[in-house]
Amino acid sequence: MKYDVAHRRIWLKGEILDVNDAKVNVLSPTSQFGLNVFEGIPCYWNEETNQLYAFRLSDHYDRLIRSAKLIQFDLKYTKDDFKKALVDTVKANEYDENLSVRQTLFVDGFGSWGSEGPVEMFVAPIPRGRTSAEYNKKGLNCCVTSWRRISDENLSPRIKCGANYINSRVGQREALRNGYDTCIFLNEVGKVAEGPGSCFFMVKGDTLVTPRLTDSVLESITRDTIICLAKEELGLKVEERTIDRTELYLADEAFLCGSAMEITPIYTIDRYEVDSGEQGEITKRLHLTYLDCVRGKLANRMDWLTPIY
Ligand code: PMP
Repeated sequence: MKYDVAHRRIWLKGEILDVNDAKVNVLSPTSQFGLNVFEGIPCYWNEETNQLYAFRLSDHYDRLIRSAKLIQFDLKYTKDDFKKALVDTVKANEYDENLSVRQTLFVDGFGSWGSEGPVEMFVAPIPRGRTSAEYNKKGLNCCVTSWRRISDENLSPRIKCGANYINSRVGQREALRNGYDTCIFLNEVGKVAEGPGSCFFMVKGDTLVTPRLTDSVLESITRDTIICLAKEELGLKVEERTIDRTELYLADEAFLCGSAMEITPIYTIDRYEVDSGEQGEITKRLHLTYLDCVRGKLANRMDWLTPIY
């Protein structure tokens, strides 16, 4: 049977439970200090093959392991264990729609922020319907937030840990307070970094430009996917380079991207219109190609897909 969202099945410490029974102690370091690392793994339903595909699962797990290493978690799980937990959880819910699967390693117990463990895991699917991915979705009005992105010298954005999202939060809250949809962060040296939960791309002429991985950004899997698809499927030039703030205002097209938001066009930045204030041609072509890719419709990209059923 398929469970309703309020009773969906969650994997916690080796057991599959009703979400209401999946409990974590309030004094645990994950609860008190955001001491966890996690992934949001997109899964797409393909109606033609009646199959659910996890997108770039192995790459998500590699990043999870890198995050765990940097934050010094001892792992009792292997990549195979990660995968089995995800597959078992999705199957337990019998999902036949798009999902974002939250897979989190966290420090449980009664310790402090310096605790070594115990490191535990949960897997929680977030159902997203079958049609989350339309390509002419509304664009974003962004500001450049006055907060700076965290840097590798204090709390590295390379680590996908819960605590990092408090930096995202202050930028996002400022944007909403001031009437924008979201924000773009500059890094500590004042160059463009990323969105609060997304990477930034702009189009200049026939070139796609995005900040370097050393400009204070998460090593985004969508970013990497877009770079590959742009070069290999669409024949575009791609530059990974430092971007000045004023370049934002002169972009021909711009978008934010991530596993959850896919490719979402930006209409304005600090009220400067980007292009004509609509979704640009290159952004649209990239988004369509991206959707074909994640749904298993690009024959030469099937190695990025893991069938669940
Ligand atoms: N940057 C940040 C800060 C994020 O939270 C995310 C979403 N995980 C991204 C970029 C995009 O990463 P990915 O493409 O791997 O989802």
